[in-house]
Amino acid sequence: MKKVVAKFGGSNLKRKEDIQKLVRVIKAYDRPMVIVVSAFYGITNHLIQSLAEVKKDESQIDVLKKFLREIKEESIFENFDDEQWRHQTMSKVEDRINQLGRYLTGIHYIGDVPEFVEDVVLSYGERLSSLVLTSILQANGIDAVEALPEDMPLITDGEFGNATVNFEVSAKLVQEKLKENKIYIVPGFYGVSPEGKVTLLGRGGSDYSAAAIARCLEAESLDVWKDVDGFMSADPKLVNNPKRIKSLSYSEAAELSYFGAGILHPRTVEPLKEVGIPINISNIDTFKNKIIPGTSICGSEEISESILKSVTYSNDFCILKLRGAGVGLKQGVLAKVTSALDNAGINIKSVITSQIVINVLVSVSDIRKAFKIVEELNLSAITEIITIDKVSTIAVVGEGMLEKPGISGKLFMALAQKSINVQMIISGASSVASYFIVSSDDREKAIAAIHDEFFK
Ligand code: ASP
Ligand code: MG
Repeated sequence: MKKVVAKFGGSNLKRKEDIQKLVRVIKAYDRPMVIVVSAFYGITNHLIQSLAEVKKDESQIDVLKKFLREIKEESIFENFDDEQWRHQTMSKVEDRINQLGRYLTGIHYIGDVPEFVEDVVLSYGERLSSLVLTSILQANGIDAVEALPEDMPLITDGEFGNATVNFEVSAKLVQEKLKENKIYIVPGFYGVSPEGKVTLLGRGGSDYSAAAIARCLEAESLDVWKDVDGFMSADPKLVNNPKRIKSLSYSEAAELSYFGAGILHPRTVEPLKEVGIPINISNIDTFKNKIIPGTSICGSEEISESILKSVTYSNDFCILKLRGAGVGLKQGVLAKVTSALDNAGINIKSVITSQIVINVLVSVSDIRKAFKIVEELNLSAITEIITIDKVSTIAVVGEGMLEKPGISGKLFMALAQKSINVQMIISGASSVASYFIVSSDDREKAIAAIHDEFFK
């Protein structure tokens, strides 16, 4: 029997009652499976902040250990009242927190956080989740066992902070490690390099961990549990009558995630699309007894009547505008710019060029650095560099978008009627998505205008 991989994220691990909900869901599956968990809500951010404090102040180590102990104690005490079980579980938690403490002491004394140590430290949010959850499931009579990525091992390309899983090497190892008919609990967010060092899979990366494990196991499905129903036609906070999307193609889901729909990490689709493993999104808050996904993502490339399935936005695309009379025709300018940005570890989200301007789109957190890097290149072809950061990227997504005439006309007419100025339009790069850039002040108006036009 094929396994199901289910992923529970920080939003499912926020309040005390959340764990009981999770236990009910796992009982409802009633089959051997693999569960991938994130850190409890907010813990990874807390660890990041503590790292900086611990470097300067040794007493912060105990402050952090106490904080983690209290959170875990709360979920342990809330979920079972067997004294012996509580004691045993707390003592395992204590051991794991002490392991973390030793890394932190090292950091304090060397006064630095080498990247390979940073990745280990930040993985402790997930390690504590998997430990506690395994114990709670066992106390509920479930045959659960914790499986750490380093024990499989789940092998990555070794890039610290943002690694990619090597499926070819990992598949057999993961299958072997998770082969029994049990419930395996795996901490998400990291794998290990070929040398055995912990490598994080990028912020929000436990969706990707779960996808990677599903791929290695050739799972029946990847079930991602959330506190919302699934993908919607737009952010329900911004529009009237948002519609739930029952089914999406892999490409639609990947583009929506890339352009800001916060349901899935953008990298979740990539490992599963190639092998056709479906992704189901379900809401834990509305779960009763049966598992009925809100959105299913699979190979079917269904064209909807309105063509558009969803409109989404991201505030994380800034523009680096490089002006120069002939940048478009001059050979090598773009190559020099993109290589320099790449060498500095900056991800380029999009490039739009013309004869007199090259627009490079990068993340908010990279825009200042990107400006400096291009400035230092001192290229004679570039006469002016401008950064534009008060913008939002709005994307419309739907299979069949490029084939049907009139979609763009309808879209931009809706915006024009609300006097929204479109600063840049990018269409045709993907067969299922078009996106455009507006001032961030116009973002909400633009989303509402498009939604009203296409989803009346
Ligand atoms: N805990 C990690 C983060 O906050 C991974 C995740 O939640 O998916 O980035
Ligand atoms: Mg997440």
